[in-house]
Amino acid sequence: MPEEASSPELSGPREACGVIAAYSTTERVSHLLYFGLFALQHRGQESAGIATSNGETVTVFKDLGLVAQVFDEPALAGLDGHLGIGHTRYSTTGSTNWENAQPAHRQIGNTSVALGHNGNLTNTHKLALDLGVSDATTDSDLMAEGLARAIDDNRSDGRGLELALMEIAPTWEGAFSLVIMDQGRIVGLRDPHGFRPLCLGSLKSGGWVLASETAALDLVGADFVREVAAGEMVVIDASGPKSYYPFQAQDPGLCLFEFVYFARPDSQMYGRSIHGARGEMGRILSEQHPADADIVVPVPESGIPAAQGFAAASGIPYSDGLVKNRYVGRTFIEPSQMLRDHGIRLKLNPIPENLDGQRVVLVDDSIVRGSTTRKLVNMVREAGATEVHLRVSSPPYRWPCFYGMDTADRSTLIAADKSVEEIREHLGADSLGYLSIDGLLDATGVADAGFCTACLSGDYPTSVPENTDKFHLERS
Ligand code: SF4
Repeated sequence: MPEEASSPELSGPREACGVIAAYSTTERVSHLLYFGLFALQHRGQESAGIATSNGETVTVFKDLGLVAQVFDEPALAGLDGHLGIGHTRYSTTGSTNWENAQPAHRQIGNTSVALGHNGNLTNTHKLALDLGVSDATTDSDLMAEGLARAIDDNRSDGRGLELALMEIAPTWEGAFSLVIMDQGRIVGLRDPHGFRPLCLGSLKSGGWVLASETAALDLVGADFVREVAAGEMVVIDASGPKSYYPFQAQDPGLCLFEFVYFARPDSQMYGRSIHGARGEMGRILSEQHPADADIVVPVPESGIPAAQGFAAASGIPYSDGLVKNRYVGRTFIEPSQMLRDHGIRLKLNPIPENLDGQRVVLVDDSIVRGSTTRKLVNMVREAGATEVHLRVSSPPYRWPCFYGMDTADRSTLIAADKSVEEIREHLGADSLGYLSIDGLLDATGVADAGFCTACLSGDYPTSVPENTDKFHLERS
C-alpha cells in the first residue's frame, strides 16, 4: 500500500505506534527494549523512546527519528534498571515534536510513572474538559495526566498504579494498547475492543515482555505466552503477571488491517500467521477476480504474499517487476518539483526486462488515496507492460479510521464516493478487482474471532468524534 503522504516522502498508511515493556529478573533491560523497538520500527518512524527503572528512579530518553538514530551506547548506558517500556511513534493526534514523543512521563510525589500508547482515543475533547487542561497536545498526554491525578488520589495504597488504572481507564474511549510503568512494575492494558494488538512473552533469561507484535518477542529472546485479551490489564512485578479487568465487556474488534498491512508478516495474531493469511487473501482474490494475464507482479513488500497466493492459485507465473528501495526512511528534505513528479521512484522502480510485452496482474494490499497507485500503474505501462490488471487484497477503503490510522478526512479516500469502475478509470488500469470483506475475513482463518471493519463497512464499534482534525488539541 504505497500511498503518497502530503509530506515529500512516499509512505504507506501510517499507524499510531509500537509499544514494548520488559521486566527482567536477571539483567538490565535497556538493550533488550532497544532491540524490541527495532522489531517494531514499522509501526512508527517519527520518534522513539525508552523509560527504565532501577527500582527507585525512572529515567526517560526519547527523541525524534528512527530507533537507530535516537539511541547510541551512551544513551542506553544511561537507562539503568531491570524494568522499562519503549515506544515508536507515528502521530495520529498532535504534531511531530519532541514534547509529543513517548514515553510520556509524570512525577507524582515519590511516584514516577511513564506511559506508551498505540491507538487513538475518540473522546479527547471530553477528557480535556473534565481534567480542565488546556495545554495537552495529544490523547496520550491526556491519559498520562488523568493517570497521574488518579495515582495522586490513591497514593496511600501500595497498589497505587493498579488502583489508579482501574479508576481512570474506563473513562478512556477508543483505541488504546498501552504499556505503563512506575518504579517497581510494568503494565499492559488493552481497550475493551482490543483494536490494537498486545501480546505477552516470557524471557528465556527470566522475566516477562509485553509487545505490540510477536515478532518483537522473537528478537529479544522471549517465548510467546498469549495475547493480552481485549479489555485486560496485566500487571507484572517480581511475583509475575496478574490480570485485572477494568472495563465492561465488549465484542472484540481487532483492526482487520493488522492482517492486511500493518503487522509484520512474521508476527501472529489470534493464533494465525500474518504471512499465511496474506497468501490466502491472494488465493481467494484469484477466485473472486481471475485475470487473463502472463505474469503476477507484487507491489513490494506488503503485496508479496498475496501475489504469491494469487500466482499459485491461478497458475500464472509470479515475477518481480518492481524493486523497493528499503532504505527510504523519513526524509525532511524538500524535493524539487522535478523530483516530486518522479517521487514514486524514490521508493519503487520497475524492472523493464520482466515487464516488457507482458500482460501483468499487479497485486497490492490496499488503495487508500489512490495517487500513488495511479503513478504505479503508469510506471508499469511505461516499462513495457501491454495490460495492467490491478488486484487488491482488501475491500475498497471507504470510511475514515478513528482508531489509529491516519485517514480521518473522508474526502481524501478514493473509494469514498467512486464506484469500482470509476476508480479503475481514474487509476488507468485495464481491470480492477478488490477482495470482498467476507473473503478477507475468511483469509484470516479466524473470521469469528472479532474484527473492526469500520473503514470498509462504515460499521463503527464505538461512537466517533465530530472533530477529526488530528491537531485539534493543539489548536484549542
Ligand atoms: S477503521 Fe479500519 S484501519 Fe481503523 S481500526 Fe477499524 S479496521 Fe483498522
